[in-house]
Amino acid sequence: MSQLPLEKFTLNGGCYCSAVRYKISIPSYQERPVRDTKEQNENRGELRFPSISFDHCNDCRKATGTLVASWIICPQSWVKWSVPASNSQFPIPTGCSESTDTKGGERVEIASEMFVKRPTSLVGFVTAFNSSPETWRTFCTRCGTNLSFVCLTGRGGDQSTVPEIDVNFGSLDRESLERQGVRPSAHFYCKYGIDWVQKVLWEGDSSIGGQTLPQYPE
Ligand SMILES: [Zn+2]
Repeated sequence: MSQLPLEKFTLNGGCYCSAVRYKISIPSYQERPVRDTKEQNENRGELRFPSISFDHCNDCRKATGTLVASWIICPQSWVKWSVPASNSQFPIPTGCSESTDTKGGERVEIASEMFVKRPTSLVGFVTAFNSSPETWRTFCTRCGTNLSFVCLTGRGGDQSTVPEIDVNFGSLDRESLERQGVRPSAHFYCKYGIDWVQKVLWEGDSSIGGQTLPQYPE
């Protein structure tokens, strides 16, 4: 089970090149809306936003370019986005630093609702791809980082209580991913997963070739 902090807290993230940044403002537990999902139907008690989960479906594997996608699902009103007012002020970071600090500069704020209302031209730095009817996936126009998923009609079996947005969990800053309690609480769409990938997750990487894979520091 998720062990999210009960007090209000914020999580930060953004794309690789730091042009697109976002802040997720999570209120105290009492103020978090109940999320009615398949997860809840399995008698796991009342579940509230945010929902953090692994996603084994074919669409999100492809769209995110990861063997297993992962999402933090929030009310749209919790997630505020920003992009540079001018692209000339934001050099692409060199190396493989996890830091995405934008180091100041004038920025433009975008509400998550804009991804739905005006999805095709979001100040240049965010492109929204209409991946299926009523469904939008956004990515950084400059560096390509996959950022979010919004489905206006809900997902199979889900009865969301508020308009929601899935933010690519892996796009959170390292500090947010390492925060105590901010962990996935379930795997979804398992029947669509890749068998050997799931064996690595369930049984460890020795399931690939009988021995644990070597681990190099770099
Ligand atoms: Zn970017």
